[in-house]
Amino acid sequence: MMAQYIALKQQAGGSLLFYRMGDFFELFFEDAKIAAGVLDIALTSRGEHDGAPIPMCGVPVHAAEAYLARLIRAGCQVAIAEQTESPAEAKKRGGSKTLVARDIVRFVTAGTLTEDALLEPRRANVLAAVCEVRGSIGIAACDISTGRMELEECTADGLGAALARLGPSELVAPEGFAEGAYAAVPRAAATFDSARGEARLREVHGVATLDGFGAFSRAMLSAAGGLIEYLDHAGRGKLPFLLPPVVRETGAHMAMDEATRASLEILSSSTGGRKGSLIEAVDRCVTSAGARLLAEDLSAPLTGLAAIRARLELVSWLHDDPLLRGDLRARLRAAPDLGRALGRVVAGRGSPRDLGQLRDGLGEARRVQGLIAARADRPALADALLPALAGHGALIDLFARALVPAPPTERAQGGFIAEGYDAALDELRRMAGNSRRAIAALEAKYRDETGVAALKIRHNGVLGYFIEVPARHADRMMASDSGFTHRQTMAGAVRFNALALHEEASRIAEAGGHALAAEEAHFEDLVASAVKAREAIAATAAALARLDVAAGQAERAAEGGWSLPRVVDEPRLAITGGRHPVVEAALAAKGERFVANDCVLVPDDRLWLIGGPNMGGKSTFLRQNALIVLLAQAGGFVPAQSATVGLVDRLFSRVGASDNLARGRSTFMVEMVETAAILAQATPRSFVILDEVGRGTSTYDGLALAWAVAEAVHGGNRCRCLFATHYHELARLAETCEALSLHHVRAREWKGDLVLLHELADGPADKSYGLAVARLAGVPAPVVKRARAVLDKLDKGRAATGGLAAGLDDLPLFAAIQHEAEEAPVDALRERLGALDLDALSPREALDVLYQLKRAAEGAAP
Ligand code: ADP
Repeated sequence: MMAQYIALKQQAGGSLLFYRMGDFFELFFEDAKIAAGVLDIALTSRGEHDGAPIPMCGVPVHAAEAYLARLIRAGCQVAIAEQTESPAEAKKRGGSKTLVARDIVRFVTAGTLTEDALLEPRRANVLAAVCEVRGSIGIAACDISTGRMELEECTADGLGAALARLGPSELVAPEGFAEGAYAAVPRAAATFDSARGEARLREVHGVATLDGFGAFSRAMLSAAGGLIEYLDHAGRGKLPFLLPPVVRETGAHMAMDEATRASLEILSSSTGGRKGSLIEAVDRCVTSAGARLLAEDLSAPLTGLAAIRARLELVSWLHDDPLLRGDLRARLRAAPDLGRALGRVVAGRGSPRDLGQLRDGLGEARRVQGLIAARADRPALADALLPALAGHGALIDLFARALVPAPPTERAQGGFIAEGYDAALDELRRMAGNSRRAIAALEAKYRDETGVAALKIRHNGVLGYFIEVPARHADRMMASDSGFTHRQTMAGAVRFNALALHEEASRIAEAGGHALAAEEAHFEDLVASAVKAREAIAATAAALARLDVAAGQAERAAEGGWSLPRVVDEPRLAITGGRHPVVEAALAAKGERFVANDCVLVPDDRLWLIGGPNMGGKSTFLRQNALIVLLAQAGGFVPAQSATVGLVDRLFSRVGASDNLARGRSTFMVEMVETAAILAQATPRSFVILDEVGRGTSTYDGLALAWAVAEAVHGGNRCRCLFATHYHELARLAETCEALSLHHVRAREWKGDLVLLHELADGPADKSYGLAVARLAGVPAPVVKRARAVLDKLDKGRAATGGLAAGLDDLPLFAAIQHEAEEAPVDALRERLGALDLDALSPREALDVLYQLKRAAEGAAP
């Protein structure tokens, strides 16, 4: 057995091998140690290998899913080795000692799950493949639980943001491909081949050319090739459900990098969960598919005016008509998860229940269609969704006739095909039923004949039907002419058979077997008809999800008094009475009120510098405006009295280093790397929020950097920007930067106590209130008093020298410095290289020059 195990383990590679033995999956050697640790189950041992006991642990097959889920979450991959023949077949093949044949039937990895129990209902499970083709990065992403597949291309710089948007649970890449943030599963580079990728896509979708699906670049097709190859590997040659690939256009979505997503806490909060995130505060979807689509919308807000307005129009329609919205949501709530049920059915892992879900989901879709079609004032997007909602009449009809109302998840016992669907099946069931009744009649007859009132006819898996009497009545029936044959003697009871019983029992078994076979055949036909309609069913699922998102957004807006944003194609942002949905909800839970604030950024007043005490509400204000932009471009209402949002191409959010100490790298380094990205990428159409940038280093450095960054954003990037800082000295930027204005969050000292008003006002902050905040936070009075004394001393010193920002008046403007910086420093190596006349050199001389250059380069390195 160990030889078979070791051969399979070799195929499994780095995956843990689940080795099927009867009702258990066993793990051995290192695998056993890892699994026992992760799963917290007993590690035992078995036999010996090379003189040492073999470590072993096991999980019962019926509970394997829960264990798999934990292993996958812990970052493991698992190879499942099943028995591919029964013990009886093995015996027949090679005698009684023959080992049952086993083979790896599937690799289970984070990105290739389809089991309902292993998937989060309200989140897509994305598997992505990336590769590089001549300087371009191709990305192929799919969610095999619903079959969606997307291809895109980006630059090396854009990869981080693209992956942050996709949030893959597993990433595959050619060996040696370096992608910092995600640990990619390395695959042979040859599997990322564009010609092969194209061929596989054509083959999967049965088309002669991919032109009908879109225009795919070589990089995209290479990534698709790698993705399909990996799916093929994981499924051991059996591909999951894949819909035709869709091209994701670069620029069709607002660009947000990982740091921005994390700091805005879009899909998960800084503590890691959904709790406290934007999506938790927004999501009012009644279906899991709706919640998944909303997550996608919020991860990838649109940049096209028409598409945004189409979504907004739909939300607005449902917002203004609470009755329609209520009806629609009630319908949707009743609809099962069509997309995932279809995914399982097409992948060959569907159950009768999944077919029942298709029937019910399509049925609800038809009713939703009726609901919407009955309305004359439909917005364009609703109109566009209508055709996808209907058109499954024949399939619904078929499934309604064929299936019982609530089909089981198991099909081994049958019982899922409805009565009246197949006359032959009904007849078989009737025969079995008649025989069961006949057996009940026999029991009464045998009691009469024997006079044993305690006689019973029973059934078990080993004997089938038998007659049982208490031991003290058995003697009479043991007589050879009694008509009963002895089968088994138990403690206190004896079991018999009788000819009539045997005949009826055989009839039941035979009819039952035939009935099961008939149901099985029907199941396969039904699956085939669903598979045939898979693209149309997927389109229906997508249409339902879109309606759910829109109705959910409308519901959320009605609940919180949110308003319809006006989205325009100009570089401006005008929000009155804006609120932060997450902070507002947190305050509401404590019975406190959120103070709404306005924000107006226009080309000649596009950078707001915001001062004021700590805890005064600066971060909250910054983020609420970013979130309002994001929500508006995702096509939803916004938490504000009114909002005009000029299209944003890129959104950046940065938080000063000391706020996210949890990160690994030197936090100040992180802050600067992220700031550098903004300065390099923000355009006049971008929106940037900078929260206390420069805080992660000493006062002088920090102030200097904050100063320079603010100037660069103002004069270089020229984007809309909110900049929170506690450096008063920055206020002087207003003297030189014409499109920069000063604002502060208000606070008041009242009877020695600090009152934070969380209200935004024009003008610079008067003082920092640091000591008052310290007092508020419970720093002991003597310490605060001492700090006051030190502060007074410092203030006097500042008055004498002109303060921290003394002398900044003579500083040339940023634009002038930028000009200087553009003159590249002299590069000696480059000059020497340029001066070489290659054709005049002998090979020997060339080699010498190369050595000299190398030495020079090493000398130049620090
Ligand atoms: P800062 O960035 O100025 O240090 P924060 O934005 O982190 O301040 O806000 C601190 C706390 O103040 C928040 O956690 C919240 O409880 C409260 N707060 C912030 N903004 C408001 C507001 N507009 N209305 C009511 N409370 C607010």
